[in-house]
Parts: sequence; C-alpha cells; structure tokens
Amino acid sequence: MRIHDPSIVGKLAELHVELQYGAALSDLTSLGIGGTTDLLRIKKHESLPDLLSLLDVNDIPHKFLGGGSNLLVGDGELPWVVLQLVRPEPDVVLDGSLARVDAAADLGRMITFCAKNDLGGMEGLIGVPGTVGGALRMNAGAYGMQIGNYVREVTLYRSASRKVEILRGDQISFEYRHTSFAPDDMMLAVILELPSKPYKEILKGIRICNEKRRSSQPLGQKSAGCIFKNPPGASAGRMIDELGLKGLSVGDAQVSDRHANFFVNAGHASAKDMLALIAGVRERVQKSFGVSLENEVVVWNA
Ligand SMILES: Cc1cc2nc3c(=O)[nH]c(=O)nc-3n(C[C@H](O)[C@H](O)[C@H](O)COP(=O)(O)OP(=O)(O)OC[C@H]3O[C@@H](n4cnc5c(N)ncnc54)[C@H](O)[C@@H]3O)c2cc1C
Repeated sequence: MRIHDPSIVGKLAELHVELQYGAALSDLTSLGIGGTTDLLRIKKHESLPDLLSLLDVNDIPHKFLGGGSNLLVGDGELPWVVLQLVRPEPDVVLDGSLARVDAAADLGRMITFCAKNDLGGMEGLIGVPGTVGGALRMNAGAYGMQIGNYVREVTLYRSASRKVEILRGDQISFEYRHTSFAPDDMMLAVILELPSKPYKEILKGIRICNEKRRSSQPLGQKSAGCIFKNPPGASAGRMIDELGLKGLSVGDAQVSDRHANFFVNAGHASAKDMLALIAGVRERVQKSFGVSLENEVVVWNA
C-alpha cells in the first residue's frame, strides 16, 4: 500500500514519522520472504495516538514490525503499511536491579548489556533475534525461561483506550508464546526486574545456551525459528522428524534437515511456497498423530 496524498505525507513529517516508500519486507524479515509496502518509522512514542488516528481516518490499515524474526509475510504488493519504532540512544537504562528498556532495543544486545552489569536471568534468550517489543508480544522463551517472568511494568499504546498507558506485570498474562495484549496494542517500553548474578556466572549460562542452539538449529540459514508451537506435553519437531519430513520442500521452502520445526528459505522461496509447506506438514501430522499444530510463526498474508 502506498501513501501518495501530500497532506498525509506532510502530517507524517509533523509527527516525526519517517516514510520509506515501497520497502521490501523480504529485506526486513529473517525468513527473507515478503512483498512491498510503505514503511513508517516512528521517532517519538508520543506521536503514536495521532499517527494511528491519522491512519484510521484515511482508511490506511497497518501492522507493527519489530525485528521481523517471527514473521511470514505475503508476496507482492501488500494491502497495509508497516509501522516500526526507531531505536533511541540509549535504549537500556539500569537502576539497581531494574532495566528500563525501549521496545525497539535489540534483545540480544540488551541481555549482554545487563549481563555486563551483573544482571542475569535472561541467558536462555540469548540467540533469539529481534526486538524487546517483539519478545514481549510473543512472550519469547527458551530453555525453561520466558521474558514474561521478569516484566515489572510495560508502557504501551492501547488500542482499547487509544492512549499510551502503563500496565504492571501482574496485570498481564504471559503464557507459552501467548500474552493478554490486544492484537492492536503496541509495546513501547518495559521495565524488567532482573536477579543479580556475577557476570562470569551469567556468561557461563550464555555459552551453554549458545552451544545448544549451534548444535541443534540451522543458524546459517534464513528461518523464523520454530514454525509450530509445541502441543501440550509433545514436541512438534519430534513428530515431524518421526514422519521423516526433514528436507521436504516446496520450491525453495524446506523443512530444515537439522531441526524439523525450523522451516528455511533455501534460496528464493515465496510466501506461497512456505504456506504450502506448512499446510502439507500440518496435514501429515494431523493424519498420523491426530494433533492439529498451531503456528508459532505470525503470518501476515493479505
Ligand atoms: C534463528 C531463530 C531462533 C529463534 N529462537 C526462538 C526461541 O528460542 N524462542 C522464541 O520465543 N522465539 C524464537 N525465535 C522467534 C523470534 O526471534 C521471537 O519470537 C522474537 O521475540 C520476535 O521478535 P521480533 O522483534 O523479531 O518480532 P517480529 O517478528 O517483528 O513480530 C512478531 C510479532 O510481534 C509483533 N510485534 C513486534 N514488535 C511489536 C511491538 N513493539 N508492539 C507490538 N507488537 C509487536 C508483530 O506485530 C508480530 O505480530 C527465533 C527466531 C529465529 C530466526
């Protein structure tokens, strides 16, 4: 979707929003798949309510992009614009055991920065790409921990009130790759409360998690991490592996031969290829195990 109207373009500039015409989402997502649309980069959190009413009044649908590491975006010209926060400097400020973090901060860099200041707890998430906002939205987790465990407070634009509000951690429910935020809420910042630990000890944990990822995941290939959520008490990857589906492909979309729940873009896969592969694998698992796998990857298809 393209914004041509000069009056809207002028208002965007007044709201400190940078407009990038025809951005290729394939360049902005870790899967390297996705068509084109206008990208609106937000420099000031305060302008969000006015920006969203501007889009609303002009019937311009939108989606929020973090680091693009959990997304499968449709092909061709996309029927909505994409909003993304610009990362401020500094993006993490420490105050005792509290870390005040901007939603646009890079998750890995934030974890490393906190670790160097003897604040741990998040070691399991090292190696998870993307932003802190995206991690909050998805309640990112790995190796027995999840970001939600450390959330003290979230500042967000709430679609229900159309205002920027602050929620305490205990007002939010964080479940396995699911949160109680509304689909149109936008994370702006978070305060994490992290346990004190000596840097050396945190580093040990980080190295163990890095090694686990390196030995089991196709890190050199384009992916969005796990495609499916694990059903209660079972492993999606194990079921796919048991069916012998590693290496199965549709065009350049392929079930990784390293980790059966990672689907990779082995060249120039389209969203159509990847969606067909996901549907095919889901059907085979349903037939053989009677389990309906739910997507972990977020699909933005027209
Ligand atoms: C190699 C690899 C390994 C991975 N390993 C893991 C893992 O171990 N555990 C895990 O949980 N995930 C993992 N992932 C998936 C992904 O990295 C996480 O889900 C990550 O937290 C997504 O963050 P993002 O900023 O990239 O979000 P995006 O992919 O940009 O967006 C994901 C969703 O969050 C929403 N969103 C993003 N930012 C905001 C915001 N500020 N406000 C509101 N909504 C927002 C988007 O609209 C979208 O619905 C992995 C991915 C890869 C490529």
